[in-house]
Amino acid sequence: MVEAMDEVDLFVIGAGSGGVRAARIAAGYGAKVAIAEEANFGGTCVNRGCVPKKLLVYASRYRGDFDEAAAFGWRVGETAFDWATLIANKDREIARLESVYRRNLDKAGVAIHAQRAVIEDANTVRLADGKRIRAGKILIATGGRPYRGPAFEGQELAITSDEAFHLTELPRRILIVGGGYIAVEFAGIFAGLGSETTLVHRGERLLRGFDTELADELASSYGRNGIGLRLGATVKRIVRDAYGLTVSLSDGSVAHTDVVMLCTGRRPYTGGLGLDSAGVALAPSGAIIVDSQSRTSTPSVFAVGDVTDRVNLTPVAIREGHAFADREFGGTPQPIDYDLIPTAVFSTPELGTVGLPEAAARERYPQLKVFRTGFRTMRSAFAEGEDRMLMKLLVDGATDRVVGVHVLGDAAAEMIQLAGVALTAGATKAQFDMTMALHPSAAEELVTLRQAS
Ligand SMILES: Cc1cc2nc3c(=O)[nH]c(=O)nc-3n(C[C@H](O)[C@H](O)[C@H](O)COP(=O)(O)OP(=O)(O)OC[C@H]3O[C@@H](n4cnc5c(N)ncnc54)[C@H](O)[C@@H]3O)c2cc1C
Repeated sequence: MVEAMDEVDLFVIGAGSGGVRAARIAAGYGAKVAIAEEANFGGTCVNRGCVPKKLLVYASRYRGDFDEAAAFGWRVGETAFDWATLIANKDREIARLESVYRRNLDKAGVAIHAQRAVIEDANTVRLADGKRIRAGKILIATGGRPYRGPAFEGQELAITSDEAFHLTELPRRILIVGGGYIAVEFAGIFAGLGSETTLVHRGERLLRGFDTELADELASSYGRNGIGLRLGATVKRIVRDAYGLTVSLSDGSVAHTDVVMLCTGRRPYTGGLGLDSAGVALAPSGAIIVDSQSRTSTPSVFAVGDVTDRVNLTPVAIREGHAFADREFGGTPQPIDYDLIPTAVFSTPELGTVGLPEAAARERYPQLKVFRTGFRTMRSAFAEGEDRMLMKLLVDGATDRVVGVHVLGDAAAEMIQLAGVALTAGATKAQFDMTMALHPSAAEELVTLRQAS
């Protein structure tokens, strides 16, 4: 067995979203494949990203459901939340998924090395146990790591998303730093679960890169729901004292909290990987530079997923890994379209988006038409809730093509996945209008928008 492993067609470093997909597809084409994973199979998404986060989001939404229930005739009685139960159940589910990932690799005939691997030269990988393996091709799929931002006093007292999933108790107070989707999602999670939540962001607006109208409406909703927003401020210092943690902000204010969570971005995980020895070129951010075919500067070395810092999402890493295997081992090159990537922010209310936000669409399409609607859903109006659903359809007036769909409100992510199909197929506004509405639903508004603003 050991001898058989000494030479492979493909060695994949990192068994996350991109690496696992590439390994399984390449093995399916008959390639001899090995993979190394230094932590948990399934990578960030399964172990400390999308999946556990969504479970926490589900947990956090029961509060709103309980609140609304009375209007529908339910008497819920006293409710109590137990963080330890949620985390234990989450860990059990993640362990199950991790074993599924491992088993699927095994079933595909991929040789598994549950240890760290580094590159020794353009065709050699060295494992932590000292074993060396020759590989026709090497795929780097090592993902990213939380970036704690520029250093400040007391930074070591803060946690990142990696640790948030393993807190021993629900913090009574939490201060989250950042304005990207991870910060916004965790603010919603902790507030929903009952923590007194503050969100500190250096920008004046949350969710850069998303449609500003929806981002602003979400910020208003967070404010209404008791999340303290401190925009235009950064953390200068954290001190542990009698108040718990005292956080000094750049605007001169001070906040007392129990946990500070830094969601200040992620960086490609390339340190100590031996990339120099193989001549693999890096960008200043540490990202591996690749071309549209995921080729690095070294012909036998490829890279996919977050380590290349293109679009850091699971489906993108999977698509890149799959396309790499198709091209290099199946002879069926598949181009990847990065323009239309449906994506969601699992805040409460939820935000879903595909295509360009309005500001960018206006630049690209001078004849842009914007169709928008804002309303309270049937459910929310009935329960006298305040949150509004917001929907925008952006249409290129020159061609009638829909170039962006943005939704804020219940089930936005589910709607946007399907809107993504329509946009990928090149749907026009006329075709949206031709589509029969599904009543009563919120999504029907997307096919009944008449008046451009
Ligand atoms: C809190 C959070 C929430 C997220 N939510 C979403 C979401 O809702 N939707 C979405 O699409 N994306 C989400 N993401 C992003 C998503 O998790 C990543 O884009 C995706 O996991 C990237 O896949 P990857 O294969 O590039 O890397 P990863 O999944 O990070 O996998 C890399 C793997 O390589 C291993 N590794 C690294 N170096 C070595 C080495 N030298 N030897 C052996 N093994 C090594 C690591 O242990 C890791 O398991 C989220 C991320 C975070 C942090």
